[in-house]
Amino acid sequence: EAKGQGKGRQVVYDDRMDHRTAEQSRVAADLRGALDTDQLHLLYQPIVAMPGGELFGVEALVRWIHPERGPIGPNLFIPAAERTGLIVPLGAWILEEACRQAVRWQQEMGDAAPRTVSVNVSARQLREAGFAGEVDAVLRRTGLPPQVLTVEVTETAVFDGGTALDELKAIAALGVKIALDDFGTGHSSLGLLRTCPADILKVDKSFVDDVTGGGEPAVIVAALLTICDGMRLRAVAEGVETAEQAAELHRLGYRYAQGYHYARPMAAEGITVYRPAHRDSRVAA
Ligand code: C2E
Ligand code: MG
Ligand code: MG
Ligand code: MG
Repeated sequence: EAKGQGKGRQVVYDDRMDHRTAEQSRVAADLRGALDTDQLHLLYQPIVAMPGGELFGVEALVRWIHPERGPIGPNLFIPAAERTGLIVPLGAWILEEACRQAVRWQQEMGDAAPRTVSVNVSARQLREAGFAGEVDAVLRRTGLPPQVLTVEVTETAVFDGGTALDELKAIAALGVKIALDDFGTGHSSLGLLRTCPADILKVDKSFVDDVTGGGEPAVIVAALLTICDGMRLRAVAEGVETAEQAAELHRLGYRYAQGYHYARPMAAEGITVYRPAHRDSRVAA
């Protein structure tokens, strides 16, 4: 994460995007150039095993260092990229870059390399005809074994209708893992879990935030784990920030987590030297 630096700038940028359409097209124009001039890069956030905090996988998260504006977060430019369709070439670059890095880690780290590398795929990308074919082509070009790649999609993207679900099934058929991202915040139809070829369910941070309160969020977090266990889905708790949250999740039976409590998104080299900083302690029930 770009720790605080350029935070104010991001807010200003956000306001402008809301109030000036001219600014929106400028973001899109700038983004087009950014792709060609090395202003974009990927950070990787560990997905860890609980309670030890050992590295299990990583999620690739795109960053844009704008030459004048400084760091701009994906929440600000991904929506613009989706609107303009620029997400298609941008997403293709992200996918290939993440796969190349995954191969590098396998060469450098051997058995200690991340077992899975997750890449976020937007609704627009999934709607694109032949997306699964492109994933296949990237795997062949990079030599990454399909089962090491995880494609993260939101419930909303899958519900987008059209060919999104077919595309997802074709990706799953390659041997690539599918994760349902931010689960619980979208349409949240449990029927989706039956029709969609999901392997991983990422429980949204908004539930994790309040898991220690013992109220409804805790009930939902527990129920989602029951569903995951019964359906052979891997449950990953997103956005774990405190030792208390980690301990409660572990007590509930969670085995995988991601969040600042364990590690922030970092450069690829950081992953090669990643060591767990926390072992979660069980809290008395
Ligand atoms: P996401 O896929 O749910 O990714 C998790 C987000 O939560 C990341 O924000 C990550 O930095 C942040 N996060 C992780 N742990 C914590 C925590 O403990 N506390 C807090 N407050 N935040 C935490 P980021 O990198 O800003 O990305 C935001 C969203 O932008 C992502 O949500 C994803 O939807 C989208 N995004 C990021 N990279 C890409 C990409 O390469 N392609 C596409 N299509 N979307 C992307
Ligand atoms: Mg994600
Ligand atoms: Mg998420
Ligand atoms: Mg989320």
